[in-house]
Amino acid sequence: MKILVILMCICQAKIAPMHICLDPGHGGEDKGATARKHQEKTVTLAIARYLDQELKLRGYQTSMTRSTDTHKELWERTAFANAIKADLFISIHANIAAQSHAAGIETYVLRHNSLEINQKLGAKPLVVAKEPEDIHHILQDVRLDGTAHASHLCACALQHHLSHSAQKNRGVKTGLFHVLLDTHMPSVLVETGFLSNTQDAHYLLAAKSQKEIAIAMANAIDDYSQGIPHTCSLQE
Ligand SMILES: [Zn+2]
Repeated sequence: MKILVILMCICQAKIAPMHICLDPGHGGEDKGATARKHQEKTVTLAIARYLDQELKLRGYQTSMTRSTDTHKELWERTAFANAIKADLFISIHANIAAQSHAAGIETYVLRHNSLEINQKLGAKPLVVAKEPEDIHHILQDVRLDGTAHASHLCACALQHHLSHSAQKNRGVKTGLFHVLLDTHMPSVLVETGFLSNTQDAHYLLAAKSQKEIAIAMANAIDDYSQGIPHTCSLQE
């Protein structure tokens, strides 16, 4: 009888849904990339809102670093994601380039180079931990090691699903972005296309395509959360 009760309790116990923090890049006075009066901050918010709706429909818990046209500092975005203990952080951006032919989607994970990261953080190279700040940086290094693989898997899934859209597949790359460096969970940054390219801009500005991008991202998050692997090489 005891065993039956325990089994019933286990079966009835709900697994908490994955909590995903969406970060629409820029906002407020920070317009982001601007081309022919089209602003990155508007595109990123629209895609993030569609993605937020889609993920909620699929049973995920979601939070957004901003849900309106407001300015948020980078540290505020990462502090928010860390405070809510999100399981995954996705920063959404749109690109710009001097050459108008540059086009396509690319996904970034953190460039995992301790020396470079510590230079970015303004710290001295790690040799022996003597000061509290050294220990802080060692802990950060250990944490980044722990999330790097998951971030890579998620980025591969995103790039796989996004490359089925009308846009060019530019691959998964590494970058040293603050939002990837300071988040305590797997994190990726998606550049959804180039506003400086006529075809990409046309695609990014249409509500139909914004929804298509959101659906592709939600499909990738489904694969990532279910452990369906997508492999891809990292470009520097
Ligand atoms: Zn941006």
